[in-house]
Amino acid sequence: MKILVINSGSSSLKFQVVDPENEKALAKGVCERIGIDGIFNYRTDGGISLKEPVAMPDHKAAVGVLLSMLVDPERGVLKDFSEIDVVGHRLVHGGEKFTGSVVITEEVIQAMTECNDLAPLHNPANLVGVAACRELMPDILMVGVFDTAFNQTMEPKAFLYGLPYRFYEKLKIRRYGFHGISHKYVSRRAAEFMGQDYRRVKTIVCHLGNGASICAVKYGQVVDNSMGFTPLEGLVMGTRCGDVDAGALEYLAKKENLDFQQIMTILNQESGVLGISSNFSSDFRELKDAEIKYNDKAALAREIFVYRVAKYIGSYAAAMNGVDNIVFTAGVGENDSDIREQICEYLEFLGIAIDEVKNREQGEAVRISDGASRVNVLVVKTNEELEIAREAAAVAAQVKENRETKAKGAAHHAE
Ligand code: ADP
Repeated sequence: MKILVINSGSSSLKFQVVDPENEKALAKGVCERIGIDGIFNYRTDGGISLKEPVAMPDHKAAVGVLLSMLVDPERGVLKDFSEIDVVGHRLVHGGEKFTGSVVITEEVIQAMTECNDLAPLHNPANLVGVAACRELMPDILMVGVFDTAFNQTMEPKAFLYGLPYRFYEKLKIRRYGFHGISHKYVSRRAAEFMGQDYRRVKTIVCHLGNGASICAVKYGQVVDNSMGFTPLEGLVMGTRCGDVDAGALEYLAKKENLDFQQIMTILNQESGVLGISSNFSSDFRELKDAEIKYNDKAALAREIFVYRVAKYIGSYAAAMNGVDNIVFTAGVGENDSDIREQICEYLEFLGIAIDEVKNREQGEAVRISDGASRVNVLVVKTNEELEIAREAAAVAAQVKENRETKAKGAAHHAE
């Protein structure tokens, strides 16, 4: 049994083949520039690595390219497609309808299409990937794993805005939270690494990448997530502004004569640390290099980023009435030891103390707090593909069990 994981975006499609027995990735890659010129990146655990131009006029062509490679006699990792038992698709927005992973059926596609307005950049692109796979692998079970599902345990006090209630009833305007697949994987892995019972710990996960969010997970359930109706709310990110007063936007629109579309472009693509650093960079490595060379705005961007993260951690410790584990993950969280240290300096009041040597260690999971720290601080490498593969395997096992029960029932009936 093998699991194919697909993460389909508008012009790229990431894939990975996972062996559920040892949870290893046998092959992974990304089809880039779909519909433009097409670039195929591919790597196997056997050491094959290639990046080459391949025509990919649409997603179906991209899926065709990756499937042919997976069964290629020399470079592939499968004998034939029958080795794939299930395909797990990353789906960004499941609205309120999806609180867990599901078998992708016509009804699910219909329900997801209804959520398209909630994530216009992501959901249609996810669905195009699903359609391509269904067409090329019609007999293989497809499972949808949602980025919003894990956050669906948030209570109304956390997910409702201070807006008239009718907008929630009529339009489902509320906070959904994102990065759920990563938050679930990382919070569980941290508890496992510490030898704790996941159902008994309070965890704050800081997923700090280009997109960044913080999640409060109490006893395995999400209490709060810093992203909101869209992935724009919350932290200051690479290019996204995070929390901002709507009144400032009205003022900006009036003074600069901008429409909503233009404002949204500024908030999503021109803000965050990129905007604060006066367009210097959205890349935290470049900001750090610049900071060392006395670029004040690069330093300010990092300072604002750190401050906002620390504020959220403080508020989530209050939301859960305590915290056992604080976990850093994703590009910045996993690699930027200075940022971790600076964030933790704000948290001394929680009894947090960092071990400077451990904070510079690299690893899949590392505890960076010192023995005396009242809260464990960890760095855990996120692995969204593995989480999707696990979910897909669990759904596939359930489907198999249901089928067997049904077959037994039918046989019993026939006797
Ligand atoms: P996303 O998946 O949201 O695109 P990632 O989780 O890949 O983002 O994170 C990308 C970010 O990680 C980049 O902005 C980059 O600055 C940052 N990053 C990667 N490596 C390092 C590093 N060694 N030090 C600091 N930041 C890093």
